[in-house]
Amino acid sequence: MKGERDKVKEDIIIFHPLPFTLYPLPFTCKLVMEISSLGEFGLIKHLTEKIEIKNGSTLKGVGDDAAVLSYKDKEALVTTDLLLEGIHFDLTYVPLKHLGYKSAVVNFSDIYAMNGQPKQITVSLGISKRFSVEDLEDFYEGLLLACQIYGVDLVGGDTSSSLTGFCISITCIGEANKDRIVYRNKAQNTDLIFVSGDLGAAYMGLQLMEREKAVFAGEKDFTPDFAGKEYLLERQLKPEARKDIVHALDENGILPTSMIDISDGLSSELLHICTQSGVGCQIYEERIPIDYQTALMAEQFNMNLTTVALNGGEDYELLFTVPLGLHEKMETIEGVKLIGHICEASEGTRLIARDGTEIPLTAQGWNALS
Ligand SMILES: [Mg+2]
Repeated sequence: MKGERDKVKEDIIIFHPLPFTLYPLPFTCKLVMEISSLGEFGLIKHLTEKIEIKNGSTLKGVGDDAAVLSYKDKEALVTTDLLLEGIHFDLTYVPLKHLGYKSAVVNFSDIYAMNGQPKQITVSLGISKRFSVEDLEDFYEGLLLACQIYGVDLVGGDTSSSLTGFCISITCIGEANKDRIVYRNKAQNTDLIFVSGDLGAAYMGLQLMEREKAVFAGEKDFTPDFAGKEYLLERQLKPEARKDIVHALDENGILPTSMIDISDGLSSELLHICTQSGVGCQIYEERIPIDYQTALMAEQFNMNLTTVALNGGEDYELLFTVPLGLHEKMETIEGVKLIGHICEASEGTRLIARDGTEIPLTAQGWNALS
């Protein structure tokens, strides 16, 4: 998994820990173009004119009253996401380019969680008055980079001015074969529970940036201390969707019985699967995958590491179940970890701690114990 991660890093990481470039950029003499100088139509044209259509299912993209898509023998999957400044992101430390990238990727992740392939997005923005054309160029640069990497077409959207901050609404359309779609409600007793990647890093990245923001508090020459914590920042600012896992499972002929992406935390997502499938589960604390940087940071913050991994959220890893009989086959899949198994609903949803104690999983986690 690490090797894979480093490879991806070399290939596509072009962002740098920018942190605290602080919006609006105070000390640059970058030419700033007012959005009003282009007008709404001019702005859309300016931001979308370089887009080239990649998918056969996109018959018509930006430029008419509606996009035209064709899904022939496939099912169409649709997911949408709303992100509001001050609620979902803080522009003090989130660069617009990263925000554009992440806004797209979190939608792709939902399509992969259905065992589908994302193909098109529409992007609607509420733009705050303090934004310049250059700011939107940055946002679109991140957005289009994600589209390029994941093979998705940007086919439409809308823009309006906003009085309350930056608002982003993205809808993603994807495709899947009817008999290959994986829902949340088909986990069976004795199925094995797997999770991809590692958990809790994005949450610790957020804690780290919040801490530095508090320390910074308006100082002019502040350099935040992020050395040795790059992975945490990257997981928070520039997450990836697990396209690779969906492909690996498919190539090995493995169809999960249920699947979900981890946006709200392992505990909450596992409960979604159990509730909707009418089953219980048992997972093992010692099996939850956690990166070294996450563990170190949690210790510095005096936080319970397991709580962080269970409830942190924004990992965008895949959580899925497979029949017990596929156990050996699953061992050939890299980057996933067996964390437990599904049981009867009457047995409850439990975490087995390192000392053997059984702790009931709740959507809020078990903070009371930390
Ligand atoms: Mg989801």
